[in-house]
Amino acid sequence: MSVVELEEVTKTYPGATALDGVTLSIGDGELVAIVGPSGSGKSTLLNLAGTLDRPTSGTVRVAGEDVSSLSDRRLSRLRAAELGFVFQQFHLAQGVPVLDNVADGLLYRGAARPVRREAAAAALDRVGLSHRVGHHPHELSGGERQRVAVARAIVGGPRLLLADEPTGNLDSGSGEAVMGLLRGLHEGGTTVVVITHDRDIAAGLPRRIEMRDGRVVRDALD
Ligand code: ADP
Ligand code: MG
Repeated sequence: MSVVELEEVTKTYPGATALDGVTLSIGDGELVAIVGPSGSGKSTLLNLAGTLDRPTSGTVRVAGEDVSSLSDRRLSRLRAAELGFVFQQFHLAQGVPVLDNVADGLLYRGAARPVRREAAAAALDRVGLSHRVGHHPHELSGGERQRVAVARAIVGGPRLLLADEPTGNLDSGSGEAVMGLLRGLHEGGTTVVVITHDRDIAAGLPRRIEMRDGRVVRDALD
């Protein structure tokens, strides 16, 4: 069964075609790398798959729902229930302790604060950061910050985790730790899609989708 399906999807901006007719399907339980040069449309593809953006034309289905048919409110609910995001720049709230940064990943689930914080503590334990719950993001290394971001992304138990260059700002050791977490999630049944510039990371993933000029030019499955 597909988690994400794109059918003839285009995304244009004034003066730029970010996606130029992309058709692809990502099934439940896959672990996928998206590769390609800068400007080839990788982030646009990920944002559309994550319902953070809407296509100019074509169809995007997430968990079987045609994104264009959903109101903003239902889209937020779908996102909160099914999706988790990790970005290159971490996107943590500064001045907010790690525990609450992660607990905020559940804000749209309607859970009470103590329940959110308990789930956040469990997620931080999964990424090996139980000893950092009271720290602030600026007190952490880049690798630790990204592990907090992973905890926030998984605190709601998403079906699909989307990561845009999650190791792009990390040294190789921290990058490997983050990739190890993503692999572990995949082994636990989560569908994981990772944009990466790192050839070694991409080569180690079972499916590699290669983008160029807004198109999928290669889609290789081991
Ligand atoms: P990648 O992630 O592969 O580097 P992007 O998806 O970010 O590529 O961008 C693809 C193309 O779309 C680029 O030419 C980029 O400049 C353009 N683009 C992306 N987002 C916008 C935007 N918000 N406004 C205008 N052009 C954009
Ligand atoms: Mg990008």
